[in-house]
Amino acid sequence: MKKTLSIALAGNPNAGKTTMFNALTGARQSVGNYPGVTVEKREGYLHVNGRKINIVDLPGTYSLTAYSQEELVARDYLINERPQLVIDIIDANSLERNLYLAVQFMEMGIPMVLALNMMDEVRKSGKKIDTRKLSQLLGVPVVETVARSGEGKQALIEIALAEIREQEDGWRPLEISYGPDIDPVLQEMTALIQNAGFLTDTYPSRWLALKYLEGDVQIKSLGTSAGEIGSALEDMVQRVTEHCRVTLDSIPEAIIADYRYGYIASVTKQGVFIQRGHQERIHLSDKIDRILTHRFTGPLLMIGVLYGMFVATFTVGEIPMGWFEAFFTWLSEKTMEAIPPGLLQSLLVDGVIAGVGGVLGFVPLIMVMFLGIAFLEDSGYMARMAYMMDRVLRIFGLHGCSVMPFIVAGGIPGGCAVPGVMGARTLRSPKEKLATLLTVPFMPCGAKVPVFLLLGAAFFEESAATVLFWITIGSWATALVVAWVLRNTVIRGEATPFVMELPPYRLPTFKGLCIHTWERAWQYAKKAGTVILAISILIWSCMTFPTLPREQSQAFEMQRTAVLSRTPENPDAEIIRQIGNEILAIDNREAEAALRHSYAGRLGTAFESFTRLAGFDWRTNIALLGGFAAKEVIVSTLGTAYAMGDVAPDSSESLGNRLRRDPHWNRLTALSMIIFVMLYAPCFVTVVAMARESSWKWALFSVIYTTLTAFAVSTAVYQIGGRFFSP
Ligand code: GDP
Ligand code: MG
Repeated sequence: MKKTLSIALAGNPNAGKTTMFNALTGARQSVGNYPGVTVEKREGYLHVNGRKINIVDLPGTYSLTAYSQEELVARDYLINERPQLVIDIIDANSLERNLYLAVQFMEMGIPMVLALNMMDEVRKSGKKIDTRKLSQLLGVPVVETVARSGEGKQALIEIALAEIREQEDGWRPLEISYGPDIDPVLQEMTALIQNAGFLTDTYPSRWLALKYLEGDVQIKSLGTSAGEIGSALEDMVQRVTEHCRVTLDSIPEAIIADYRYGYIASVTKQGVFIQRGHQERIHLSDKIDRILTHRFTGPLLMIGVLYGMFVATFTVGEIPMGWFEAFFTWLSEKTMEAIPPGLLQSLLVDGVIAGVGGVLGFVPLIMVMFLGIAFLEDSGYMARMAYMMDRVLRIFGLHGCSVMPFIVAGGIPGGCAVPGVMGARTLRSPKEKLATLLTVPFMPCGAKVPVFLLLGAAFFEESAATVLFWITIGSWATALVVAWVLRNTVIRGEATPFVMELPPYRLPTFKGLCIHTWERAWQYAKKAGTVILAISILIWSCMTFPTLPREQSQAFEMQRTAVLSRTPENPDAEIIRQIGNEILAIDNREAEAALRHSYAGRLGTAFESFTRLAGFDWRTNIALLGGFAAKEVIVSTLGTAYAMGDVAPDSSESLGNRLRRDPHWNRLTALSMIIFVMLYAPCFVTVVAMARESSWKWALFSVIYTTLTAFAVSTAVYQIGGRFFSP
């Protein structure tokens, strides 16, 4: 014999539960009280195909947090009695408000069917609701009903039974993102609860963490009696509460509610209302959205905002960047004065200061960009951008939530792929997340920008902004096309409907902006202090050892002596300058010879025979190899390789001139290199981050396919270009 099924009716007060309950069960019902409380409990049953189904009319509630006795009773019933399914009766006249409870059922994970009740009134008011769309976006069956006349009750039960059959594998909680301030703590708390096994056989662990953040009295007291775990969780709540107070001038509970409503808003905005009724109350956020996410003005304004950020990043960021550069130039001069020439000086100046300084030099630029991003995010506009971009990104197998990772990674040039890769966490579908992870490194990150600026200035007369603009467009196009290819080959799969939290607009607080900017910038700076420092020293060693054999360096020494011996007794300024130049030229030739002799030089030379196809000689190879470690080192390595010797690292101008005069370099070589740098493997740190977000298999895949693509495209451009145009 099959066991008795039980279904609970839930919903806001006055949504029509009792009416539906009566329509379903008729006279087969009993009324009592829930144990220990005065809350009424109605139970009844009906027979379908000879099968008995228990129906319970739960007390009306607005939420599932233990604010009132009704809420507690409803929740405890679901948790303790574990009905197979909840029918959430919704007053379709105020769909958004009623969906708030539905979302909480979804977060609990209990199988659910939505009954859009009061459809008679909805039709009368002139509203039209696309139930199919609603169902598709929420991933939950939706049935239109009029409880008073019994319309739809048959369909409701049939669909409920079908859903029960489908959901036999248990509860599947929905995970909503609660934004950058709540999410990390939520994750931490969930892990803690999971590891401690705190109530995990009764509740989903993320749900428990959420209840803690919402200040749920019942769960908190259970935590307190469980001992240590309770106080650990309370400490975490206290910490994030303080953080939210400072950054957003709000409390976690309110932020969570905002994001839940945001989630609902993004569902209802997508054509769920075919026609809005007249009496709908319009909130300020909705009014703003009428312009900001309008079909035509929306995208235009978005492009304007992005372009504004682009310009601001470069004009404002350039000023403090100059100070940083000046500081590092000063530091290397002082170091050269303090330490005699030799290996130690070279290590400190060429290895440590040039390497770390090159990265830290970008911090101001990055900070300006992150400030802009923090503003977009805190104000709620970022979510709207994702919402608008979803339509475009969907075509390429990505998702609206991919926008943020792309932008952070350098979609507005100057970002960094590492936070971009980490930002892909908000994507719920593993395949869309993977496609985002694998294409995010195509963005022109802050470390690639100097390469583009150098080559752009040297070989293309257009302004730096124009060059960068086209490179940015090219990078986006590449990322999208590659995403499309990946999503149609190795990571094929369904697109998930775009449901993302659209929280109400709010004015960001100054402190909040500062903290969010700082958090990101600090991540970047930390990389300079740790990984880049280690890599700089490694690269320096590869470019220094083995040193030139004694007889060769003696030969250069003799050349210098020869020049110096020609110096007349009382040289005038002109002669001193000439001799200085000759000595410098010898120094540079020696540096070049030494580099060629080093491990890095040998490696670069070994690759030369086939990198020639793309126009790269051994020097470029060294720079590009260094770029595997960190893109920041490409320009500085080129500088050394092109015998720039001790010329200050900030004189990219003169390196540009040098390249232009070099017979090997021309526009085509420059273009080929720009393309290669645009496309080839993500830097080491990004690869590690990718492995952490997916797996080493995919991280290595990323390195290989990007590099092969880069080489193929560069070679094609160089070969075809060379045939048709004489550069
Ligand atoms: P509960 O609080 O959820 O149990 O709601 P009730 O079942 O007590 O219904 C609240 C009111 O809404 C009652 O006056 C019902 O007659 C009315 N009602 C319930 N369903 C419908 C419906 O589909 N259409 C209309 N017009 N009224 C309904
Ligand atoms: Mg009732």
